Amino acid sequence: MTEAVLEVPHFRMYIDGEWVDTEDRYHLINPADEELWATSARGSAADADAAVAAAVAAHERGEWRNATPEDRAATMTRMVEILNDRMDDLVEMHVAENGVTVRQAMAFHVGYSISHLQYFADMARTYPFETPGPMLGYPTMAAGITRREPIGVVAGIVPWNFPMLLAVWKLGPALAAGNCIVLKPDEKTPATLLEVARAAHEAGVPPGVLNVVTGEGEEVGRRLSSHPDVRKIAFTGSTAVGRLIAQQASENLKKVTLELGGKGPNIVLPDADIDTAVDGALFAFCLYQGQACESGTRLLLPDALHDEFVAKMIERAKLMKVGPPADFDTAMGPIISAEQKARIEYYIELAPKEGATIAFQGEVPDGPGHWVPVTILTDVTNDMRVAREEIFGPVLCVLRYTDVQEAIDIANDSEYGLSAGVWSEDVDAAMDVARQLEAGTVWINDWHMVNVMYPFGGFKQSGIGRELGPHALDEYTEQKFVHVDLSRSLDRRIYDLVVPALEG
Ligand code: NAD
Repeated sequence: MTEAVLEVPHFRMYIDGEWVDTEDRYHLINPADEELWATSARGSAADADAAVAAAVAAHERGEWRNATPEDRAATMTRMVEILNDRMDDLVEMHVAENGVTVRQAMAFHVGYSISHLQYFADMARTYPFETPGPMLGYPTMAAGITRREPIGVVAGIVPWNFPMLLAVWKLGPALAAGNCIVLKPDEKTPATLLEVARAAHEAGVPPGVLNVVTGEGEEVGRRLSSHPDVRKIAFTGSTAVGRLIAQQASENLKKVTLELGGKGPNIVLPDADIDTAVDGALFAFCLYQGQACESGTRLLLPDALHDEFVAKMIERAKLMKVGPPADFDTAMGPIISAEQKARIEYYIELAPKEGATIAFQGEVPDGPGHWVPVTILTDVTNDMRVAREEIFGPVLCVLRYTDVQEAIDIANDSEYGLSAGVWSEDVDAAMDVARQLEAGTVWINDWHMVNVMYPFGGFKQSGIGRELGPHALDEYTEQKFVHVDLSRSLDRRIYDLVVPALEG
């Protein structure tokens, strides 16, 4: 290893409360300048096994699952405080890690991660872990109780686009409910997720309750999703890998939640405020360079508005500064890797061959970094591959429609169903469209506003289950019905008094 490598930060794995290293290391490359910014351990299937064994042992010891929900909430709140204190460092690290702009990292990637973790901590305090049911009068007087118990060992596998946030969406409800968890970040982006583990360590989360194994999807991810001792797997990533995970998880019938891809239809109704909708449409497909699953990538415009809308959108797109993500006035940074850049460029080249027009391409910086210009495609029809497949970059497909029913049909004609949007000055009309869209989230006059208090997930091939919202812990608990025969448990005199009364 060269001296230069030794000078950059190094990230180890976190297993059973210890920082674990490997001889083999990943080189973490800053996508904005292609420089090495850190290294990390390169874990194996054996490390995944060790982490699962630690989690099983921790679950059996019961320190975490038997702690009161209030104690779990207090420990998780300490994690939040530690992360809050390190906000600036985390933002800087996140910008280096995946090229998100500093403003988006503050608001979404790091800001949401911390506030969402607090939401899950609070939820531990309010979640109905034990609910008495109605008194049962027949055949004997009895009481029913529904308990929500932790599932056991959970594995969470996350992608590179929101590594910290998507980990919190899994570890938050898992820990609040009393489970133990093993997390696997993407090979390219382990750093901020490992900082959450550091906060857990310092906050006093017991050893083995939270573990992080860094490594290849094909090795560590596959091992976790097929491991017989893992009872639930929570995955965010591509639909292709989601299918594999579901297959791998079927061996021991693990519970599975999947958050997968999308091809978000964004419908502008004829009465929309054009300037607002133009900015909204740009925001919908350009946030984090279009590398967000919930992006609005199919813009549906009524014939009468089409030309004016596209012209205004191009004028506004020219104003967006694409450049170093660490600069505060940068609107868009680089693409995560050369591989992803090549994939996006493939679709941009494909578009004209399919009959689409490249109506606009923005500027990108010279020099190193994985840059892709903002690209607006017009003359797109919904049967083209550019309209059906997830491009995962700053590329917008503009489609035309004649009447609103046609727009709804085009929107729903997709294997995906993660997010959708409607722009209108008439909330009733927009609600009417929202009700007919096959999507887990529909924004009216907005986009990307994922709210931790509401469920997030996909219809159709965009996923299984939901993260966030008041029912998030349901996905991390088993239900148990406990029947108590009061005739044997209660003082006989009370029973003799109550039962005749019940029987009239
Ligand atoms: P990916 O599916 O290639 O990788 C995601 C994770 O899975 C990584 O950690 C990877 O190492 C791991 N993995 C790969 N092969 C595996 C296997 N055989 N078994 C177990 N794990 C394996 O996805 P990506 O390219 O990193 O991320 C982009 C995709 O994620 C896009 O399709 C995007 O839409 C989707 N995404 C969805 C959401 C959502 O909430 N619905 C959020 C973010 C990203």
